[in-house]
Amino acid sequence: MPLIAVDGPAASGKGTIARALGRHFGVPHLDTGALYRAVALAAMRAGLALDDGKAMGAQAMALDLSLLEDPELRGAAAGEAASRVSALPEVRAALLAFQKAFAAQPGGAVLDGRDIGTVIAPEAQAKLFVTATAETRARRRFLELTSAGRDVAEERVLADIVARDARDMGRADAPLRQAADADLLDTSDLDIAAAVRQAVELVSRRLDRIS
Ligand code: C5P
Repeated sequence: MPLIAVDGPAASGKGTIARALGRHFGVPHLDTGALYRAVALAAMRAGLALDDGKAMGAQAMALDLSLLEDPELRGAAAGEAASRVSALPEVRAALLAFQKAFAAQPGGAVLDGRDIGTVIAPEAQAKLFVTATAETRARRRFLELTSAGRDVAEERVLADIVARDARDMGRADAPLRQAADADLLDTSDLDIAAAVRQAVELVSRRLDRIS
């Protein structure tokens, strides 16, 4: 059964694409960024220092999965904090077994994140690296935020995206990078329907090749 890895930077469209792939190929989907966001949210609420590896590792070990439904999980503060705690090896180690078990389900799975094709599921039959220019991703995030009634400046959103990219790509442990055997999908000039169509085509090609 298909195991599909989807990686890419913030606001590249990887989450929407991974969910659509899950529906198309009939496999369960795990948004691994949500796990890091949940750790960060729990730590912020407990008033803990986000750079304390030991304390953050303990938060991740005791992760309350009901936080995955929390309305604040998707907020900019949780995303920013997630990017900080996710650089800590203690946090990554604590979340590893859960993600690997999800990937090992006999019926197959699709996971999206930053290190799925490289660390969590290097054995995946199909891997996508979804990207788009920082300006495009900032524009999408800006439209999302303003249509939700938030008052933000587009330059600020772009600066946040650039900072998050640098942190995710620059960390020592499991940095964001394209796996050698991943297909690149640049969504800069694609709407969501076209991006999903291309993703399904790329994955289908990989699965046909191995079956
Ligand atoms: O994908 P999302 O923006 O929700 O992820 C939040 C943060 O979690 C990312 O900026 C990244 O630092 C971290 N993350 C990670 N590894 C993953 C998924 C997310 O380090 N597999």
